[in-house]
Amino acid sequence: MKQKETLSTTPLKEQHIDLSNLLIEEMGDEHKASSVETPLRADAFDTTDEEKIAAIAPHFKAIMEILGMDLRDDSLKGTPLRVAKMYVKELFQGFTPVNMPSMTLFENKFQYNEMLVEKNINFYTNCEHHFVPFFGKAHVAYISSGKVIGLSKLNRLVEYFSKRPQVQERLTMQIGKALQTVLQTQDVAVMMDAKHLCVSSRGVKDDSSNTITSFFGGKFQEEKRKMEFLKYIDINE
Ligand SMILES: [Zn+2]
Repeated sequence: MKQKETLSTTPLKEQHIDLSNLLIEEMGDEHKASSVETPLRADAFDTTDEEKIAAIAPHFKAIMEILGMDLRDDSLKGTPLRVAKMYVKELFQGFTPVNMPSMTLFENKFQYNEMLVEKNINFYTNCEHHFVPFFGKAHVAYISSGKVIGLSKLNRLVEYFSKRPQVQERLTMQIGKALQTVLQTQDVAVMMDAKHLCVSSRGVKDDSSNTITSFFGGKFQEEKRKMEFLKYIDINE
């Protein structure tokens, strides 16, 4: 079922969707414990990356000094600025809408109407409660509504939402809702299987447990589709 006749069959020049206007806050009512939107201050983007790095470095330096470290040591003196840069330019660059990957859709000219599964997408993110990593595999699937997306874009979307302090439940929903918006279909599934360093390296120090979260939209809420998806990803592999 074609929705837009303006889409041509010419590859690589189709429809660019700006993800910065995603309407993902709709999920809020159903998940009262935590908004699907990352809690951000109104002035979150009033400062540049460089200003943020310059502001974070002395704070991190203060933490190290309070812990008793001697910042005059060659090995340590570069750490505050290094950490500040890593936060702003790498680990948490997924805050900034300008870093949203552009999403290019193509017409589903093969008329492939079964589910497409991209499994074992590696992701690294950081727990917003402890600021230590959690990481693992994301598995995403969709059933085309007439449009398809470049496979690497699925990885990019997972990466984008991973690059901010996260909780796994929210990360899973953000990816699912974003895919629904981009692909213009409810028929999207996401499953994430992760190890949390805040569970394994501290606290209960449980090294063997994994955390699994899922998002099933549209046809994926049907038992048959759900089971098919789970069979494909076979997370016990
Ligand atoms: Zn944690």
